[in-house]
Amino acid sequence: MTAERIDGKAFAALLRERVGALATQFEHKAGRKAGLAVVLVGEDPASQVYVRSKHKATVAAGMESFEHRLPADTSEADLLALVEQLNADEAVDGILVQLPLPGHLDDQAVIAAISPDKDVDGFHVTNAGRLAVGQSGFVPCTPLGCMMLLTDRLGDLSGLEAVVIGRSNIVGKPMAQLLLDANATVTIAHSRTKDLPGVVKRADIVVAAVGRAEMVKAEWLKDGATVIDVGINRLPPAEGEEKGRLVGDVDYAGAEGVASAITPVPGGVGPMTIAVLLRNTLVAAYRNAGLAVPEIL
Ligand code: NDP
Repeated sequence: MTAERIDGKAFAALLRERVGALATQFEHKAGRKAGLAVVLVGEDPASQVYVRSKHKATVAAGMESFEHRLPADTSEADLLALVEQLNADEAVDGILVQLPLPGHLDDQAVIAAISPDKDVDGFHVTNAGRLAVGQSGFVPCTPLGCMMLLTDRLGDLSGLEAVVIGRSNIVGKPMAQLLLDANATVTIAHSRTKDLPGVVKRADIVVAAVGRAEMVKAEWLKDGATVIDVGINRLPPAEGEEKGRLVGDVDYAGAEGVASAITPVPGGVGPMTIAVLLRNTLVAAYRNAGLAVPEIL
């Protein structure tokens, strides 16, 4: 068997298109564009790349992008004051503070200052709580994107065995919560799990969010499993290469022979994250404007 490659890039492009069309409708109804504010503190090169792509994608979807670039030595008081200003700004529907922040700033304190109704990253404890008790709020973009790929492929997940490897607040835990809400039987594995290969073997759905290159081996997988690989790991450069290859947490070449479907890295989960961020921002805009959120979002 050769597993079907789940094309996250194509799915994300469709989602961005749909969000773009609905963003135009929103503009007609609300008399303004939906707006996303992104705050970047310091000059971390990876964060600069992320912020640039978020800006481009926001504008391409017909939304307003407000970028705030602050120097690395910005005080916490100044950053909190900017967040307060964005909370109060009616043109801003979503606020994203790019993490990690420089060491002298407390990520949690800054996230806590964002209005939960503008927290399109879904990192605020209020949104984590809403997800836990089944209220509508904002769900972190990466696990929500994984869930869209899973339901697109599998439809109803009721009764399926799902194993999530990783328990971070931004991927593993919300992923498990979403799978539980979809009536899967969910196991969360982590670094202290005994017999990880044995745990993974019973899964119809495997979501790997670990950060260890090609850790999950073909022989760990149940025949026909659906595999979602969240990991992004750069291998050391091989001879003649300037940069090492990007790989996921799953040994793709091996897993292809056992799984029924698998996301590649790159081109799987990665592109979904920004597309879902745009979706969350548009949902925030509808809610903030007191308009009904279209079903298809
Ligand atoms: P974290 O480092 O926060 O969490 C990693 C998790 O993996 C932890 O729960 C840890 O367990 C677990 N873990 C570590 N080693 C093992 C092991 N040997 N066996 C089983 N579990 C283990 O990472 P994130 O959740 O933030 O990210 C995970 C991966 O996903 C990374 O590669 C990251 O780059 C990628 N990522 C990709 C995104 C995308 O857009 N595609 C977005 C976000 C992340 P414990 O809790 O016990 O320490």
